[in-house]
Amino acid sequence: MQHDAPLDLQHAFRRLAGMHADAGEVVTLRSADGSVDRVGYREIAERTARLASALDGLGIVQGDRVATFMWNSHEHTEAYLAIPCMGAVLHTLNLRLFAEQLVYIVNHAEDRVVIIDDTLIPLVAPLVDQLPTVEHWIVVGEGDASALGDGVLRYEELLAEQPGGFSWPRIEDDRQAAALCYTSGTTGNPKGVLYSHRSTLLHSLAILTADSFGICKSDRILPVVPMFHANAWGLVYGAALSGASLIMPGPFMQAGPLTTLMERERCTVAGAVPTIWMDVLRYADEHKPDLSALRVVPCGGAAVPRSLMQEFEERHGVTVCQAWGMTETSPLASVAIPPADAVGEEHWRYRTMQGQIAPLVEVRIVADDGTEQPWDGVSSGEIQVRGQWIASAYYRDDTSADKFDDGWLRTGDVGAITSDGFIAITDRSKDVIKSGGEWVSSVDLENALMGHPGVREAAVIAKPDERFTERPLACIVRDSDVSAQELVDFLEGQVARWWIPDEVAFVDEVPKTSVGKFDKKELRRRLAEDELD
Ligand code: ADP
Repeated sequence: MQHDAPLDLQHAFRRLAGMHADAGEVVTLRSADGSVDRVGYREIAERTARLASALDGLGIVQGDRVATFMWNSHEHTEAYLAIPCMGAVLHTLNLRLFAEQLVYIVNHAEDRVVIIDDTLIPLVAPLVDQLPTVEHWIVVGEGDASALGDGVLRYEELLAEQPGGFSWPRIEDDRQAAALCYTSGTTGNPKGVLYSHRSTLLHSLAILTADSFGICKSDRILPVVPMFHANAWGLVYGAALSGASLIMPGPFMQAGPLTTLMERERCTVAGAVPTIWMDVLRYADEHKPDLSALRVVPCGGAAVPRSLMQEFEERHGVTVCQAWGMTETSPLASVAIPPADAVGEEHWRYRTMQGQIAPLVEVRIVADDGTEQPWDGVSSGEIQVRGQWIASAYYRDDTSADKFDDGWLRTGDVGAITSDGFIAITDRSKDVIKSGGEWVSSVDLENALMGHPGVREAAVIAKPDERFTERPLACIVRDSDVSAQELVDFLEGQVARWWIPDEVAFVDEVPKTSVGKFDKKELRRRLAEDELD
């Protein structure tokens, strides 16, 4: 038998603070003109201990929730390390949530302390009176914080006041909560997903494996994905474990500053949702940056168009790698790395699927009638998952039992699985289009449409139809003056004829969710209100 030590995040922190102390760094972009802060891992570790000591001084004990309301930065990295390692729970607040959702989740989690960037104070200032559990606001930056009322502390002052060092408590049970993240709540109230130390550490190890992102000590990782979106896809703890450096974009999420940062800092890995990469691709086409250091661009959160991957590769030598997951799955569940012998079309068939199921994750497909479907690449149903880092319940919620079935998470994604374990998603159940009794895949249609050079963005939603129940409606952002008929002609032969939308709505922009995905709920609302044509 082996030594049964707890699998806790202190292990990742000890590696960062010890063997990687002089090798890794966190670089934070501080202004659009490119100035950065550079903090080596040795100093990050010292500051992390000071933060833990400060929180301890404020009375934070094991199990307490400490929230962050921050962009990606070295201070946020320190919070990522200090809070779980002292036994408290890191609650990353999504700063793009609607006010009432924010109030709901802070109260639901009973956050005692919130660490907040000064530039974000205006977003919460009007809500302070509705957040009775919050005893202290710790403000990063020098900006005016009077709107937060009493209980304001300054991050740097607080760190400076500490004696230095911290006596980290033992994490007795690695199933203890380390972090808390709420789903963006497209229906009803946001749901809390609690990540344990064990699940987070195992998940971090998974992103280090070669058939996923292969994160290693020589990597310089740019998590464009916000640290409030599914724990930044594990990239922060993966960096701590492996010794890779982190390059943080702060609030500068536009294609220009991101591309310059990647170029200057010689980033090797950069993860974001497809909409960001679409912008970066256009920017890169125009400015021809040197992106030769980029080894892999993990991309997920929504289906990744083939055209995006292909054009990045052909024009900039950058490999965009599709992955699939959700807040409830920590998030990594599958990564689309094709077999070495798959070439040409076969290679791209693998790349455009959502990926091969990661080790320690189990997946099944369940049809509407409850029967489990074979892995034949055709039989379709709801994708259900379970495993070491897959949620089996929501936090303090007894209204969602139907989302789980004997440890299996019902993802709400519809698709098939190939015999070699690649998941191919056709839709989210809330976005499916049923036309004349048959399913139309909005994912496949969008993929095909975004392959047209004149299309910048394409989102396909169901439009109610008397004869066919629903018909697909393509909402298109144009890059040129391409016509609806040209798009229809372009789709001919690429998808089943009856899938081809009868109507195209040209829009200025596809609305985005709080984490940057196409917001189809908003598109459906606009359609219902006659705001789309
Ligand atoms: P939200 O539910 O607010 O979108 P999540 O980030 O948890 O927040 O979303 C998870 C969902 O995103 C998945 O259930 C799936 O529908 C979608 N998704 C994630 N990655 C992919 C992908 N590679 N292809 C298609 N859909 C994806």
